[in-house]
Amino acid sequence: MSDYLETLYEGYGQSFRMDKLLHEVRTEHQHLVIFENPRMGRVMALDGVIQTTEADEFIYHEMLTHVPILAHGNAKRVLIIGGGDGGMLREVSRHRSVEQITMVEIDVTVVDMCKLYLPEHSKGAFDDPRLNLVIDDGMRFVATCTEQFDVIISDSTDPIGPGEALFSENFYQACRRCLADGGILVTQNGTPFMQLEGVQTTAGRMQGLFTDWHFYQAAVPTYIGGAMTFAWGSTDAAYRKLPLETLRQRFAGSGIVTRYYNPEIHQGAFALPQYVLQAIHKPSND
Ligand code: SAM
Repeated sequence: MSDYLETLYEGYGQSFRMDKLLHEVRTEHQHLVIFENPRMGRVMALDGVIQTTEADEFIYHEMLTHVPILAHGNAKRVLIIGGGDGGMLREVSRHRSVEQITMVEIDVTVVDMCKLYLPEHSKGAFDDPRLNLVIDDGMRFVATCTEQFDVIISDSTDPIGPGEALFSENFYQACRRCLADGGILVTQNGTPFMQLEGVQTTAGRMQGLFTDWHFYQAAVPTYIGGAMTFAWGSTDAAYRKLPLETLRQRFAGSGIVTRYYNPEIHQGAFALPQYVLQAIHKPSND
């Protein structure tokens, strides 16, 4: 048995015992490995960075879907950028109110291998008739897209390799253009304790584009370094000020049973710590 050492950070990281190597391949875009670990279940990594594990994926996927969709209240058209493992798609597809899901994933091998080795992530969601799966660069898609979406979710790798474009000024501008009136953009934006510069850069890019921009957080154990931030950009500041009772009614109405998300967690997730507020030049969580 050997260990898988994550190489995201210099001089700091996590290792996973690899009880069984299930698949390893250099795809057209990145190095992919899927293996079994006694604590985290099946684990997928891309270019040396842990992407998802069976044990804790629910936290990340529930928070990047139910928060924007329930805050919006009437999301019918959802765009997922990245998300090749299918977990984001699974959670979006649980919303009966959503009528159309477009998913733009650059690497078809990630989709194929995750369907095969991580079937619980997508749980059949790739067969959802509402899905339009596009194998392409998400940057190219939003730059040329003529459709509009109520919620856009960027579920990308870190800003290295193919994921780098999904943190660019052009990407946020293009996403803003593809948002319908009242739309919401959310993106995975790394762990601020380890990647504070990335949060600052995103903040600088979002504030000129969105009426309301902020971040929200959740601690995902295998995204090491503390809580992970999700960038939030919308054309309606009221979304972040929804009464708890409204969120409770919408959550109950969705009929969705979750393992992490609940309305109180939703509201609390937008409360950022001082060092993050200071880094993004926001005087408060308002
Ligand atoms: N949860 C992970 C995280 O927070 O880092 C992300 C998981 S998901 C597997 C990341 C996906 O983004 C991968 O399937 C990768 O192929 C995809 N991706 C990376 N760059 C992309 C791009 N430019 N366009 C579309 N998909 C991209």
